[in-house]
Amino acid sequence: MSEIPYKIYLSENEIPSAWYNVRADMKKKPAPLLNPGTGEPLKAEDLYPIFCEELSKQEMNNDDQWIDIPGEVLDFYKMYRPSPLVRAYCLEKALGTPAHIYYKFEGNNTSGSHKLNSAIAQAYYAKKQGLKGVTTETGAGQWGTALSMATAYFGLDCQVYMVKVSYEQKPFRREVMRTYGATVTPSPSMNTNVGRKINEQFPGTDGSLGCAISEAVEAATTQEGYRYVLGSVLNQVLLHQSVIGLETKAALDKIGVKADMIIGCAGGGSNLGGLISPFVGEMLRGENQYEIIAVEPASCPSFTRGSFVYDFCDTGRVCPLAKMYTLGSNFMPAPNHAGGLRYHGMSTILSQLYDDGFMKATSVKQTDVFAAAEQFARVEGILPAPESSHAIKVAIDEALKCKETGEAKNIVFGLTGTGYFDLVAYQKYNDGVMDDYIPTDDDIAASLAQCPKLG
Ligand SMILES: *Cc1c(COP(=O)(O)O)cnc(C)c1O
Repeated sequence: MSEIPYKIYLSENEIPSAWYNVRADMKKKPAPLLNPGTGEPLKAEDLYPIFCEELSKQEMNNDDQWIDIPGEVLDFYKMYRPSPLVRAYCLEKALGTPAHIYYKFEGNNTSGSHKLNSAIAQAYYAKKQGLKGVTTETGAGQWGTALSMATAYFGLDCQVYMVKVSYEQKPFRREVMRTYGATVTPSPSMNTNVGRKINEQFPGTDGSLGCAISEAVEAATTQEGYRYVLGSVLNQVLLHQSVIGLETKAALDKIGVKADMIIGCAGGGSNLGGLISPFVGEMLRGENQYEIIAVEPASCPSFTRGSFVYDFCDTGRVCPLAKMYTLGSNFMPAPNHAGGLRYHGMSTILSQLYDDGFMKATSVKQTDVFAAAEQFARVEGILPAPESSHAIKVAIDEALKCKETGEAKNIVFGLTGTGYFDLVAYQKYNDGVMDDYIPTDDDIAASLAQCPKLG
């Protein structure tokens, strides 16, 4: 029998006690956020009206390599971490590949995704600052669920603006959030100025993440004792998610395995950024080499077809400008896109790393993603989230390439969550009525043309 077990578990004491800040090792730092009015780089203090102070400092911190995980956050982590690193023996066998496939499974908590890793940290800092509550947006609902779990734990109020189409299509997600005490409002709503404006401009709109962000920011800045929190894209979120990569690295080190290839899905970039951070750190310091692949949907291809420019983070244009791979803040994936990962931009950290050649990116069609999801579910037992299945698709493709070349590569991918709330999408796929829409060059050029012109 093989010596490597199916599940490589760490003990509770092996949960990292500090987050790793990859920016400290980047020679070219991610570009600073800019004030949308003046075009000047923002300082941490400028963010205090929107974000918690400690989180604003983390957002701007390009220097400290390690940031201690507060004891209360670690205690919460212990309820569901360390998450298992699984050797996908059954998938390898089904594929007949000589490759060794490992996945880090983050779906073992009620939110069903990795998002809880950052939600609990952000709720902790809000509580420590003495706030009453936080506001946020959610698309598919995983982030809103994770945040409502975290705010319930720390006794904070939680107001979630949920993209209208998801609010209507995912009533169970909404109910989980309410069970944890959150208020859930479909966006665009009539609660905020920006919501009313968008409703007027686009009557009957389904909403979008960019629009829900604008509403949540307005709600935070107009209520005393509230701040806005975000579940992806931001530097602070990638920082918190480094716990995924640190555990993965520790587990691989334990069994004496070096990853050759690391694959993750990329929406705003938080799980991928967290998973790869300690590995990229080694690359940045010249200690090791890895092949890193970001996987995005063909219907929302920010890395592979976007531009690396300053853009708005939200549709209402109330947020700071970020330099990132973007499709333009007005870009909306086609309505038949069911597979998540629909944000128009990408983490500034990952954008810089990609531009500097530390990682590659590829895009995949959603019907191929669901085919891979079902192939995986049938042999590995886990019902994967559509988002996670983007990584599964490319991991399978790479393992099949190894079958041709005979290489026994060590392939590691991030299995970010479970798909129990995505069964409408699975149903479409199973009924054969799911199709693939790929935006034309003209679609993308039109939305990119609306990026701000700077200097
Ligand atoms: C939110 C989410 C993602 C995508 O977000 P990133 O910030 O790119 O990681 C991927 N998988 C699951 C399960 C999610 O909930």
